[in-house]
Amino acid sequence: MQFTDILVHYNEIATKGRNRKKFVEALERNIRQAMKGLPIYKIRRPPGRIWISSLMGEHFDQSALDRLSRVYGISSYSPIVRTTLELEAIKEVAWEMLKDKTYDSFRVRSKRSFKDQPLDSMTVNKEVGAHILRNRSSNVKMKDADVCLYIEMVASAAYLYTEKIPGRGGLPIGVTGNLTVMLSGGIDSPVAAARMQQRGCHLSFVHFHSHPFVSRASQEKAVELAEILCEYQYRGQLYMIPFGELQREIVTHAPEGLRVILYRRFMVRIAAEIAKREKARALVTGEALAQVASQTLTNLLTVDQASPLPVLRPLIGFDKQEIIEHAHLLGSYEVSIIPDQDCCQVFMPKNPETHAKLERLIEAEKNLDIDGLCQDALNRMNVIEIKAPWWKPKKARRKEPSNTESNTSHNTQDRDSSTP
Ligand code: ATP
Ligand code: MG
Repeated sequence: MQFTDILVHYNEIATKGRNRKKFVEALERNIRQAMKGLPIYKIRRPPGRIWISSLMGEHFDQSALDRLSRVYGISSYSPIVRTTLELEAIKEVAWEMLKDKTYDSFRVRSKRSFKDQPLDSMTVNKEVGAHILRNRSSNVKMKDADVCLYIEMVASAAYLYTEKIPGRGGLPIGVTGNLTVMLSGGIDSPVAAARMQQRGCHLSFVHFHSHPFVSRASQEKAVELAEILCEYQYRGQLYMIPFGELQREIVTHAPEGLRVILYRRFMVRIAAEIAKREKARALVTGEALAQVASQTLTNLLTVDQASPLPVLRPLIGFDKQEIIEHAHLLGSYEVSIIPDQDCCQVFMPKNPETHAKLERLIEAEKNLDIDGLCQDALNRMNVIEIKAPWWKPKKARRKEPSNTESNTSHNTQDRDSSTP
C-alpha cells in the first residue's frame, strides 16, 4: 500500500527526564538519515511522537517502513493515508484501508484537534463505521477489536491509519557515546555490536587479519558484517589491521600455550589506539564466559589487564544458541558462517592455556617490543569507510565464500569511489 505520512512513537526515551529533548532530537536526526533519498517533505515533533510527511503528490512505500524498522529508539510506527476533511473522502480511504484485511471485529477512533471543525469525532466514528459495515458485515467492538481504524483530523486534512508496527526499541544511536568493536568474521562479535547499538552507542570497527598468511576471506566478511551494522548507524569506519607479522613474533618468542592470550592482549592495545582516534570510550568484544579456552574468567581478566580502556562484553552471559538467534534477527548469521580462517586460528597452539597467569604473560612480553609491534601494525592498517546501502549505488553481493587471494580487495579508495 502507498501512504503519505508515517507516525512514529517512542517509548524508553520518553522517560529520560531532562535529557528527553536531546534524545528526541537524536531520534529525529537518525530518522532523517535512515530515510535519506525518500520523498520527505517535513519531519515534525508533536508532543510524544514524530510525524513524517511526504512531499505533495508523492508517497512512501514498504522501503520507508524497512528503513524505520532499523532505527533504534522507536517503539512503533504507523503508515498513514492523508485525505481531505470531507466525510466522503474519509469514508472512501477508510474502506480502502480495511478491504484487504481479515477481521471479525473493528472499531473507529477519531479525534479532531480544533473544536470548531465542521466534523465532530462522534459523527465521523458513526458514519465511517456504517460505511465499513455496508461494505462487509462484521462486528463493531469498543474493546479488543481485531482492527482499530484511527482518524486524526487537523485544520487542513484527515489522517487515517490502522497499524502500529513494533519498532526495535532501545535508544537512538549516538546518544550514549562511541565504542570501538573488535569485529572478527565470526557469529559473536556482530551480535555484541548490535547489543551496544541498541543501547544508543555509535560504533567503529577493528578487524585483525593474517593476510598474506591466509586468504582475505575474513576481511571480506568483516566488510559485509560492518555493512550490515551500518544499516543501523548509517556510517562507520572499519580499520583493517595486519596482524600476521606480530603473530609471528609471538610464535617465535613466547611459550606456545600462551599464544592466543598474547594475541588478544596485543589486539586490545591496538584497538585502544583506534578507539582514541574515534573518540570511543571503551572496547567491545563478542566474548562469552567459558565459550572457548581463551574466554575463561582468568584469561578474560588477563586480557583486561593489558587494555588501556574498559572492555565491554555484552554477550558474557549468553549461550551460543541465544547468540545464534540474535545473529538471525540481525541478518548477520549467513555471512558469519562463510568459511574463513580467523587470525587467532593461525599458529594455533595444540594445548592453549586455560588459566594463564598474569606474571607468565608479562614475562613472555618482555621478549617482545610491545610498542614497536603495535605501532608497526598501526602504520600498515587500512581504513574503509562503510556506509548504509542507500548512501551509495548498490553493489552485487558476494555469492560464494572466497578462499583465494585473487578474490580481493577492499581499500579506502575502492569504497570512496563507489560513493555518490
Ligand atoms: P565465533 O566464536 O562465533 O567464531 P567470535 O567472533 O566470537 O566468533 P572468538 O574466537 O570467540 O570469535 O573471539 C572472541 C572475540 O575476540 C570476538 O568476539 C572478537 O570481539 C574478538 N576477535 C577475535 N578475532 C578477531 C579478529 N580477527 N579481529 C577482531 N576481533 C577479533
Ligand atoms: Mg566466540
